Amino acid sequence: MLKKKMIIEARINEYAMRHDNPHVPWTPDEIAESATRCREAGASIVHFHARNPDGSPLHTVEAYAEIIRKIRVKSDILVYPTLGWFSNDGDPAGRINCVTTLAKDPATRPDIAPIDTGSVNLESYNSATRTFTHPERVYINRTDTLQRYARDFVASGIKPQLVTWSVGFTRRAAALMDQGLVNEPAYFLINMTDGDCLTGHPGTPEGLEAHLRFLPPNRKLEWSANVVGGDLLRLAGLAASLGGHVSPGIGDYPYRELGSPTNEELIRRVAEVARLSGREVATPDDTREMLCLPA
Ligand code: ZN
Repeated sequence: MLKKKMIIEARINEYAMRHDNPHVPWTPDEIAESATRCREAGASIVHFHARNPDGSPLHTVEAYAEIIRKIRVKSDILVYPTLGWFSNDGDPAGRINCVTTLAKDPATRPDIAPIDTGSVNLESYNSATRTFTHPERVYINRTDTLQRYARDFVASGIKPQLVTWSVGFTRRAAALMDQGLVNEPAYFLINMTDGDCLTGHPGTPEGLEAHLRFLPPNRKLEWSANVVGGDLLRLAGLAASLGGHVSPGIGDYPYRELGSPTNEELIRRVAEVARLSGREVATPDDTREMLCLPA
């Protein structure tokens, strides 16, 4: 049995709409309620995106501050907002401004925030009709922007999650570590993609294992797996046995084959897989210690 506890990060909404799963939380109250229930089900981190009442992306400091305060009134779960990715692309270098502003007040300081360590095409490909949707869409993360994010996160007391979509992203993340810009242990997200998203490794054992071979061997790190547009449950046991962590949520995939569950129902299933694989589920305090988060 692996002694290391398993971190479950709930990715509760992303920019998912509700046609495939009506339980995607959008409003601050819905997000805070979902975060609390996910904590009770076994998650120790909640990753979320602020949304307008119609589900469209929202990028204001006020919205994130309201959500974070509402979560913290109800729960000790660790708080991890997005930077808004391609939907917040007016000024890629400025994407970080919302979280660094939130960090100035301890009450709203995020515990974790993402650094996607490279740029990607974000088209959708429909293999049945052989057509692309949004063939123009690119999510830009210049290397000098990544260096700025890493420095500003350290100064703000925010732990970066190094989001890696393929091996080149991992090598760039390792270079940021070499430069002393990211403290150990680093927290990696192995961001696989399935369905109509072509950009990441497939969400299969082969896709995960190929990726893991290129994690820097001489560095202290923890890694978590997620699958955008695919079923993470089928990889959760493998991630557990390999000493990794998991980042499930209905934001990334609606799980229609399971009856479109709530986030907490999905987290409960993943926690059960972890326990059956011999891994106890980490609490927020355990996670804080494993990732060396600032107190
Ligand atoms: Zn996200």
